[in-house]
Amino acid sequence: MAPKRILIVEDEAITAEVIAEQLESLGYFVAEVVASGSDAIAQAAATQPDLVLMDIRLEGGDIDGVMAATQIREQFEIPVIYLTAHSDRATLERAKVTEPYGYILKPFNERSLRVAIETALYRHNVEQQRAREKEFLEVLLRSISDAVVAVNQSGTVTYMNPAAEQMTGWGLPEAFGENVSDVVQIVDETTGKQAKNPVLEVLETGQVVYMDDHMALVTKSGTQTAVADSASPMTQESNQLVGAVLVMADVSDRRRAAAFEQDAQASQAAEALTRQSLEAEQELSALRNRLIATLAHEYRTPLAIIRSSAELLHVRSTRVSDEQRDNYLEMIQESIKRLNQLVDDVLLYSQAEAGRLPFEPAALLVADFCRELVESQQLLMGDRYRLEYQCESEGVMMHLDANLLWRILTNLISNGVKYSSEGSVVTLTFSRSAQQAIFQVADQGMGIPADAQARLFEPFFRAPGAKSVLGTGMGLSIVQKCVERHDGQISIESTVGIGSVFRVVLPDCTLNL
Ligand code: ADP
Repeated sequence: MAPKRILIVEDEAITAEVIAEQLESLGYFVAEVVASGSDAIAQAAATQPDLVLMDIRLEGGDIDGVMAATQIREQFEIPVIYLTAHSDRATLERAKVTEPYGYILKPFNERSLRVAIETALYRHNVEQQRAREKEFLEVLLRSISDAVVAVNQSGTVTYMNPAAEQMTGWGLPEAFGENVSDVVQIVDETTGKQAKNPVLEVLETGQVVYMDDHMALVTKSGTQTAVADSASPMTQESNQLVGAVLVMADVSDRRRAAAFEQDAQASQAAEALTRQSLEAEQELSALRNRLIATLAHEYRTPLAIIRSSAELLHVRSTRVSDEQRDNYLEMIQESIKRLNQLVDDVLLYSQAEAGRLPFEPAALLVADFCRELVESQQLLMGDRYRLEYQCESEGVMMHLDANLLWRILTNLISNGVKYSSEGSVVTLTFSRSAQQAIFQVADQGMGIPADAQARLFEPFFRAPGAKSVLGTGMGLSIVQKCVERHDGQISIESTVGIGSVFRVVLPDCTLNL
């Protein structure tokens, strides 16, 4: 380390020489020796010494040692040690005011000179470091965009940075010494109620306090600013609480953005909901329109039959034979049955669509159930078609909804019959595998083109080849609903001109009970 450079200000040449010798023998470097106050200031500026040894009483010249020392210290921040004699009491008093780094009483020895110089250098060093830290803190607090307010133990304001002055509308000089509750007024943004100042809470608890989200600061002029803040205890090294510091950030923009975002999200959600319900509504109304159109269409034929049959019976009541009358009556009953079927189908479908299809699975001897069903259907068909039943799992008991299963199978069988030429065979097969009931209805009919297969379960859909056959297009969509209600599956294998196989797999519902 380079030797410390010392400026000697002494008007007695002999004393100055002695001091210079002593300093050099102590390992210091004598930067310059001057004899007057003004020279001292000029040399301090020119040589920038580490320390000045200054005789308090400089004879002659316009400025004495005390004045020169004051300037050197203030202007160049160079520590000054006074050289003084016992007799200089009055001057000493004056010198005290300039807060010197030390006095050396003349006459002095090397040791006391060294102690005085080292102490002064050390003190100066520490002070400079403190000053730098203070400056750094000052700059830091000034540059922080958050408001910083410090209070002492009793909650009075001791410091505010510029951001705090701006945010609160209070200047530090007027806020200094005021109660923090007056300077920093916090209210609940939603209720408008005054909230407890977090700083006071910190002083009570000694704990860091984070403020709730929806808080606002009331400025001196009475306007409100949305703030987010935290307050922390200030403690000394001994952990003793000496005050608290409050840090506040202006979050108006953030809160506005969040509110905007929330609004946007809400309106997006509302929009999506409206769109969804609109789509659902559109779908529903399309379905309803199709239902009504089909109903109207399908109603016309049986209604026309009923009307003309009834008219004939009425007009020709006396002229019709018994056989004719029975014939007309039978036609009326058939038509009524069809109308009922149509209404039933549409009601059932809309019930299923609304998720209100009754589902009551119960223990069922499936093989017997199927046998009875095939027999009853065969009775209805007469001998125009042959229904066959193949049972591969006799005597099994499963939990299924008998009503729905009846609908599924009778629909599939009647389709098999409807779309086949007279005299052909329709076969129902039942088997059980892995807790599942597997039903297959196979026919030797017209088959279904591949592109139509995917749409068969849409309500009212009818394959192009089916137009000549009486139907509504509701049967399979109801079948599908009944299968879905069982958590089952339905699939088709069909070849045009060869025939179709409808396969229904239903799980045993005890598993789901
Ligand atoms: P519908 O029989 O009243 O028309 P479905 O919903 O039962 O209504 O059937 C929809 C369509 O599927 C029928 O119009 C027909 O084109 C076709 N389809 C259903 N089952 C068969 C089958 N076994 N063979 C050929 N086509 C069939």
